[in-house]
Amino acid sequence: MTFLKASVYLFFISILIFPLSAQSLPRDTTLDVLSYYVDLNLVENFTKRSHRKFTGKQDIRFVVKSISSDRFVWFHASQKSIVPGKIEGAKFVKHESGRIQLELPEEVETGDTLTVRMEYSHSGAKDEGFFVSEGSVFTNNAPIEARDWFICNDHPSDKALFSIALTVPNGVTVGAVGLNEGVTDTLGSKKWKWRSIFPMATYQMVFSASTDYKVKKSSVRSKLSGRDIPVELYWRKRENEREVDYIKDVIPVMLDVFEDQFGEYPFEKIAFATLTSDFPYGGMENQSFITLCAGCWYDLLAVHEFAHQWFGDLITPGDWEDIWLNEGFAEYMEALWIERWTRPEDNQYMTVMRDFANYYFLVNPKDAISESKWNTDLPPGEEFYNSALIYKKAACVIYMLREEVGKDKFFEILKSFTTDPRFKFGNASTADFVRITNELTGKDYTWFFDQWLKHPGHPVYMNRYRFYQENGEDLLEVTFIQEDWERLYYKANFELEVKYNDGSSEVFTGFNSENGESFRFKVKPGADKVIFDPKEKILLKKEY
Ligand SMILES: [Zn+2]
Repeated sequence: MTFLKASVYLFFISILIFPLSAQSLPRDTTLDVLSYYVDLNLVENFTKRSHRKFTGKQDIRFVVKSISSDRFVWFHASQKSIVPGKIEGAKFVKHESGRIQLELPEEVETGDTLTVRMEYSHSGAKDEGFFVSEGSVFTNNAPIEARDWFICNDHPSDKALFSIALTVPNGVTVGAVGLNEGVTDTLGSKKWKWRSIFPMATYQMVFSASTDYKVKKSSVRSKLSGRDIPVELYWRKRENEREVDYIKDVIPVMLDVFEDQFGEYPFEKIAFATLTSDFPYGGMENQSFITLCAGCWYDLLAVHEFAHQWFGDLITPGDWEDIWLNEGFAEYMEALWIERWTRPEDNQYMTVMRDFANYYFLVNPKDAISESKWNTDLPPGEEFYNSALIYKKAACVIYMLREEVGKDKFFEILKSFTTDPRFKFGNASTADFVRITNELTGKDYTWFFDQWLKHPGHPVYMNRYRFYQENGEDLLEVTFIQEDWERLYYKANFELEVKYNDGSSEVFTGFNSENGESFRFKVKPGADKVIFDPKEKILLKKEY
């Protein structure tokens, strides 16, 4: 296997640029959406360049979990993009501050299931969710852009089934999440229907339609389940077919590796589709329909997005503070992939992890990896999807977890998490992951997750080392000191390597939990120098 060179790789990481979209994020917790059915007429979006308007209708089926005294419920609907029309099944109250407020009918009671039918149109405004260029129309919903093109309870915790029907001109190919349920002729146009049979978060409910698509269809057999999983690759005429075929060849390998590590591939199909240059991301892990930047048939990108099918899609963050469970793991899987396919003596895994750490140190983000403030006030996209923080630093924390618990236990934790029926096809929080770690190790690692995830920054060590003799014995004394220890003292299992004059060395270990703590170790005569953390187990540290 070959990989992107580091320079290309880092360039690629740097193009994960996200659009501005600061919005507060309250959601309606009185309802639980079961399914969306969205039916759009996109014919005109293909006939006129950058014509962004369309008409649509949709059904939202939801359970009424509780009823407020005013009987109001509400859904997200972008103020600038969505123009509501006729609404049936509930009374329209207002469209304000990016939300559509509805009044529940008199007869509806708590626990009832209700279907609301809505007609609406897209205003044609430019937004971050609905993209139109000549011959191509696609959507991208992460993190909260689904509301730019359909009306929804736009929060990762409210997963639902998703069906979509798209009317497009003849000659347009449509791909989407879920399974294709046929294409029908309608007066010179074609209506494509796609339906998911597994619940998904709104940020993954996308489609991509283009006059430019060629499609490679095949299937891959799961060694774990014996199931033949359909594979669809949507590529563009100007792209290099050999690169597409390369990813086609990588898919069975990824499937084997990930099923072995994380359990059965969960979804209807495996699909990758490239988008146009309007797409501001490197890739997006939409459930069973991964989208990639134009021409981006790269294996590490494919690995990252494919890992998300478990970390993010099968098990979705309960809230935005848990986003590291997506991005940290997907990023870390790139390093694991490199570890797997390179020679151990070349130490490529460590090289990638060091690159991740160095990128984090370079950017030095001011937030913690997991910030509860994001749950109520999501920052602008490019701030939220902070590559140095929730990708690179989080991946380093996952690396350090493996060093803490040991490799075998680490993979046991991951598999236990991704196969846990409490979380599969649903949501999990950081606390859920910590609980699994603690259960499987029989130890309490709350301190580890707390210091690395809930606090910004990293430890800066200024340890003092002293070799001396006492009662005829050679001793090493180490005193642990961290800069800024009053804010937070980072605890750590540590290793100290003592080098001797004769070329030999010896490793001493311990657990350091507070500033100024001293340890004494009996060393052999001829001790020359000491190396703190020789294997870089505490990857996210600086040392003076
Ligand atoms: Zn990702």
